Amino acid sequence: MDNVRPADWRNPVPAQRYDLVVIGAGTTGLVAARSAAANGAKVALIERRLLGGTCLNIGCVPSKAIIRTSRVYAEMHHADQYGALVPPRIPVDFARAMRRVRDIRARISRSDSAQRLMAAGVDVFFGQAAFAGVDSLTVKGATLRFRRAVIATGARPDLPSIPGLAEAGFLTNESAFEVSEAPRRLLVIGGGPLGCEMAQAFCRFGVQTTIVQKRPLFLPREERDAAQILSDAFARDGIEVRLNTRVVNVRAEGGKKIVDLVSDDYESTVTVDAILAGTGRVPNVDGLALEAAGIDYDPRHGVRVDDFLRTSNRRVYAAGDACLAHKFNDTADASARIVVQNALFHGRRRLSALTIPWCTYTDPEIAHVGLYVRQARERQIPVETFTIPMHEVDRAIADDEEVGFVKITVKERTDRILGATIVARHAGEMISEITLAIVARIGLRTLAHVIHPYPTQAEAIKKAADACVRAGATSRAQRLASAPLRWMRG
Ligand SMILES: Cc1cc2nc3c(=O)[nH]c(=O)nc-3n(C[C@H](O)[C@H](O)[C@H](O)COP(=O)(O)OP(=O)(O)OC[C@H]3O[C@@H](n4cnc5c(N)ncnc54)[C@H](O)[C@@H]3O)c2cc1C
Repeated sequence: MDNVRPADWRNPVPAQRYDLVVIGAGTTGLVAARSAAANGAKVALIERRLLGGTCLNIGCVPSKAIIRTSRVYAEMHHADQYGALVPPRIPVDFARAMRRVRDIRARISRSDSAQRLMAAGVDVFFGQAAFAGVDSLTVKGATLRFRRAVIATGARPDLPSIPGLAEAGFLTNESAFEVSEAPRRLLVIGGGPLGCEMAQAFCRFGVQTTIVQKRPLFLPREERDAAQILSDAFARDGIEVRLNTRVVNVRAEGGKKIVDLVSDDYESTVTVDAILAGTGRVPNVDGLALEAAGIDYDPRHGVRVDDFLRTSNRRVYAAGDACLAHKFNDTADASARIVVQNALFHGRRRLSALTIPWCTYTDPEIAHVGLYVRQARERQIPVETFTIPMHEVDRAIADDEEVGFVKITVKERTDRILGATIVARHAGEMISEITLAIVARIGLRTLAHVIHPYPTQAEAIKKAADACVRAGATSRAQRLASAPLRWMRG
């Protein structure tokens, strides 16, 4: 807290006018404020809760820290297959694991501290910001005038409206990382990235976990084969998977929560000790008095921006989760950089020019970049895909991490990479090679000439590239072989 919300903090006296006022100190706000200040701008940053926002405090950092511990437990449970002698039951010190999460958060918070920001030339204000006009804001009774402003207010959990849920009590990502005792039985509502990551992590802590997803597959945006692998992995972990299922009612009884479910036309009831809702995120646009500054917004989709991230007020921009459909930390960072260039330095950088990869950190991880095959088909782009199962990759075999695949899609008869899905233990690390290739317009055949250290799981990418080379060679050979026939036929 000393770093992200110092108890004795006094807001500075506002400057006469700021070049840039940033509302919200999550990833978007921090990147925008720091990079504008580093380029000589007079900058103010306003935060109503904790510096670092979702990612540091209640998102990426604590979730990945928990996932790491849960993987350790999972590996210990299967350590006998590597020749280690393990007792049949490995006790879990959940409170200690959660302490580790808090320690990691505290350590990473140093780089986002209020003191460091002030030292970097950013005026840090704590309090709720609201627009007072087209070029001014208020925070804690002070008025901040600006030449440009950025709305970087992020998003919050979209709370499901299920009868009885609020009364019975439930966790979201805002509270789940504060629990110090593991529930015996947990119901996770929602099969998106957050629900999937948390369900698997809690299950591996020994919590009897049920996950309910209203669609027929998890991670509905991902390729079907990727989502299917995840369902299988969950079943192997011992998670009770309920697809095509809705929670219709919750009631509390003697410290337990009784949950009624409907799956297609079949009704059932589960009894749990805790419920975690991972049912999406909605942008923070309320309380900002956006109308006072003439800024258009939609309560579900956030602040309306154009491709240059300008709002309907030419002085005000927005970035990150407050306005983007892709609610990821890396996108928040990239969009903040676009805003600084466009707002302060006459930049013309476009959001649509970004190549955005993402990853769900389940085991196996599911990472994607570019077009999905179905999107290419919808756009009538003819494609070829090259798929390498991880069980053909030596390092994956040696590591006993054979579940998954690398699937790379190219435009038909070319090696132009349109997209890729990687399902593998370290898919999040592997996807960057494909992202680099797309951004730098490196064709898939060129990746076949890149020497990958042996043995690594990234060799799967090289194998896909080799397959692309072979396919090209075959079609060229076929064309050459058929040339005399065509000549003969006139
Ligand atoms: C559980 C979880 C796990 C995640 N894991 C990943 C991951 O592994 N990888 C990844 O890429 N992404 C992940 N994300 C998404 C990622 O955390 C967000 O996309 C990213 O943090 C968005 O940054 P932001 O700055 O736009 O918003 P936020 O980080 O939400 O910051 C917005 C800030 O604005 C403040 N604010 C709001 N309104 C006002 C106001 N009126 N006045 C002053 N301050 C205000 C808020 O208090 C908040 O601090 C995860 C999200 C969650 C919930």
